Amino acid sequence: VKEKLEALKQNTNNTVNSLLEDSALESAKKVDQKIASGESIGLLEGIPFGIKDVYMVQGTYTTASSDLLKNYKSAYTATAIQKLLDAGAIPIVKENCDSFGHGSSSENTIFGAVKNAINPELVGGGSSGGSAVNVAKDYTVFSIGGDTGGSVRQPAGYNNVYGLKPTYGRISRYGLMAYASSTDCVGPIAKSIEDIRIVLNTMSGKDAKDQTTYTSKAITEEAISSNGSIKSVGYFKNFVESDAIDEKIKADFFSAIEKIKAKGIEVKELDFFKSDTLVSTYYTLAMAETASNLSRLDGTNYGNRIESDNLKETYSVTRSENFSEETKRRIVGGNQVLSQGFSDEIYLKGLSLRDQISQNFEEDFSEVDIIISPVTPMSPPKIGDSLKDPLAMYLSDAYTVGFSLGQLPTLTVPQGTETGLQITAAKDNDELVLKFANFLK
Ligand code: GLN
Repeated sequence: VKEKLEALKQNTNNTVNSLLEDSALESAKKVDQKIASGESIGLLEGIPFGIKDVYMVQGTYTTASSDLLKNYKSAYTATAIQKLLDAGAIPIVKENCDSFGHGSSSENTIFGAVKNAINPELVGGGSSGGSAVNVAKDYTVFSIGGDTGGSVRQPAGYNNVYGLKPTYGRISRYGLMAYASSTDCVGPIAKSIEDIRIVLNTMSGKDAKDQTTYTSKAITEEAISSNGSIKSVGYFKNFVESDAIDEKIKADFFSAIEKIKAKGIEVKELDFFKSDTLVSTYYTLAMAETASNLSRLDGTNYGNRIESDNLKETYSVTRSENFSEETKRRIVGGNQVLSQGFSDEIYLKGLSLRDQISQNFEEDFSEVDIIISPVTPMSPPKIGDSLKDPLAMYLSDAYTVGFSLGQLPTLTVPQGTETGLQITAAKDNDELVLKFANFLK
């Protein structure tokens, strides 16, 4: 714990929003005493981990990397984090990310752009960039990111580590600051499949405080170490036939396919929605949901209030001064698609497309056990570049957002393509995803 805290203090990748030094050292001392007295300790006991700065951890600053919440301290602890604390894991850092999860690069933050672990001139990815970089740099053993449309999987891919978006509802969202509630997922980032499995099992389970959660079975080491049941794998033709994909990523993806075939597994081409349709459906719904979720942040109950002449002005100045350009763009976009005259044509159409996308997945999974895809069409951009063109940034999410809309378990593994390979299975089949990842190693 001490070593990692020191390394985090020296780090030049801008991964830290706040260090939890005092509490971490105190917890570590207790574990040391336990060991010294000969008591046995649990698997996660004493393990230092990081938390994306959008999770409530009682008494800690929880800023969402925003000016609006830069002085906000959590009043309670998120369920997923509480379960890790109960297992004895030790949180050491609240991690830098795109403000409120809005972004794909971790540049939309008041704490400075997160720098990539492999090449610091490039972005760390986002929105859970600080979390992925901390794992890649060994500053944390694992980190807890949040994935609404790719925010765990894409930075994991950009930094060569594992990142899982579990099935929606497997882990409670209570205490995760809401971005788009219908796709928000708690997701672990780590350096091995085994670590992902352990952390996933610890955080999973039904929670009375999140009505969308369900009871899942723990995934055992044995269950994911043999490949009995995987016979066929599919991929979306249009993802890799588009002009938008980088040649190197494409070539790498096809060599992953060859590797899978060589192991005796059938690989099938599948039809899917166009990337543009996926991106516009996702952003329509995500913006609508975030506009609604963020309406509570007006400086009254939470946040950095800027007093003005009257209440309405106070709301307005607080929000316009404290939200970033990107967040404001999404609030305006979201309110637009929800407003009378537009909602039928845009928001309701988005909902209906989402149903069709889910239907498409259901049909796919009657044909194949696993779907694979590249994580991103392009390699990580240089810091500063993606801020110039928000639309291009949205399009870079083309391969991650569909699985979010489908609420499917999807894992990034740091092999197969330059920015990682995504492995997806049907709902609640997180076990199969980890099993296939092991099989591919
Ligand atoms: N890049 C996507 C977005 O900005 C996904 C972000 C996320 O998963 N939090 O919405």
